[in-house]
Amino acid sequence: RPDVFTFGETMVALRGSGPLKLGGTMNVSIAGAESNVAIGLARLGHDVRWAGAVGEDEAGQLVLRTLRAEGVGVSGASTDPGAPTGLLLFEPRLPEVTRVHYYRAGSAGSRIGADVIQRAFSAAPPRVLHLTGITPSLSPTARAAAGLVLQLSRESGSLVCLDVNFRARLWTAEAAAEVLREWIPFVDVLIASDDELPLCLPGSGDGGGEGSPGGGEGSQGAKGTTGANEGLRAEGAGAGMGAEWADGGLGADGGLARWASEPEEATVAGGAGACGGAIPLPPQEVTGDPAATVAAQARLLLDQGVGEVVVKLGAEGATAFTHGGSLHQPAKPVRAVDAVGAGDAFVAGYLSALLDGEGPAGRLERAVTTGAFAVASPGDWEGAPTRAELGMLGAPPGTVVR
Ligand code: ATP
Repeated sequence: RPDVFTFGETMVALRGSGPLKLGGTMNVSIAGAESNVAIGLARLGHDVRWAGAVGEDEAGQLVLRTLRAEGVGVSGASTDPGAPTGLLLFEPRLPEVTRVHYYRAGSAGSRIGADVIQRAFSAAPPRVLHLTGITPSLSPTARAAAGLVLQLSRESGSLVCLDVNFRARLWTAEAAAEVLREWIPFVDVLIASDDELPLCLPGSGDGGGEGSPGGGEGSQGAKGTTGANEGLRAEGAGAGMGAEWADGGLGADGGLARWASEPEEATVAGGAGACGGAIPLPPQEVTGDPAATVAAQARLLLDQGVGEVVVKLGAEGATAFTHGGSLHQPAKPVRAVDAVGAGDAFVAGYLSALLDGEGPAGRLERAVTTGAFAVASPGDWEGAPTRAELGMLGAPPGTVVR
């Protein structure tokens, strides 16, 4: 079995060095949340497969060639002669604010269909399926493909990891919540920013019952496993947590109002209103203490059957919750040069350690390490460490590795 299968849209990424309207030179690369994770895992030595569609164009060749060069399997990728590869422009506007401009509507990646993904997944069912909440926002066919692969994962015993990755430019919070709530019963490892948790919780009037994740053939029974991944699942579900798990140990302030710092938010006039109004918070979970609110929301998700809930807290680090308790891991101090891609790098580190059989502390440790590499390096994925480089982070300033 491959270690990880993931799919989504990967675009050509152009990165400038100042205000876009002034022109100048741009760096050409590729970007996509799922392929960022795939590259991070491949650098760490894992067998990872990416599927998705690119246009029959030179931009699509750049995407596939880059992924191949990074050791990511792309035999499940397809080309779409009827649509171009998507494009995004990064515009660093202030040291702390990057604007992102997308040209992806109608792109090849957004038109991906369930049949292609089914073939790619079924050719070699993986130990872990990794999905993001970006894919279902792209098109009804992409959403159906993701729903189908969730069902296939259950049937083949693949562990399911979902990074919420809410993108306010692509859909409203209400539309995202409708899909994510349907998916939650299929998820083993949920990774989210603190402000994204409410999107996954049952809203008022929502029974929270399990049905089909969409696009597939009918509903499934209670979450289970066919056995192939018992080891992973048992750990993911909170077994063997060890003494490091302290109940309620959320050390960060866990502020719930981080929408404004999302890079793509900055491109929208008025910013704050862009996510379609207030996130639908279940009323009983609103408290005056953000950290307690996050912990309560994570526990509600565990009650829904999620094995572990991992909350990314930016420069504060991350906290993981399971039925065994919670564990907070502070971020690794680094000089931040480019925060874009930190979340994807974090996921790569987390899954890498999980695949290696590490416990919660080891998973969080590797995740904050790979997250720190991402913020300390320009680009979405370029700074991702190899296994041998993981230890570099604590080196004193001025260290020369000869
Ligand atoms: P993005 O969407 O830009 O990829 P995100 O919002 O999904 O990011 P963050 O919470 O910003 O994810 O970052 C993920 C992880 O990266 C954090 O949990 C932390 O471990 C690490 N990280 C983020 N910012 C910093 C920082 N300034 N210094 C060190 N580590 C950081």
